[in-house]
Amino acid sequence: MALDLVCNMEVDEATAQWTTEYKGTTYYFCAPGCKASFDDDPEKFIGDSGSHEGHMDHGHMGHEGHMDHDHSAH
Ligand SMILES: [Zn+2]
Repeated sequence: MALDLVCNMEVDEATAQWTTEYKGTTYYFCAPGCKASFDDDPEKFIGDSGSHEGHMDHGHMGHEGHMDHDHSAH
């Protein structure tokens, strides 16, 4: 099963009627409205988790470094 990234429903690749190919990957959708939403702004649905994870990693490391420095100075 593939995941419809727009509504998070599972879609069977064998019977999916609405698909789109983006950057070499095929995405499956449960309805034409979901495909249209994805086609309108694919990065919104694909890039979300990746950019969020990167931001958290960076923020956590920066925060930790700042705390260490502050603590030893006192
Ligand atoms: Zn859908």
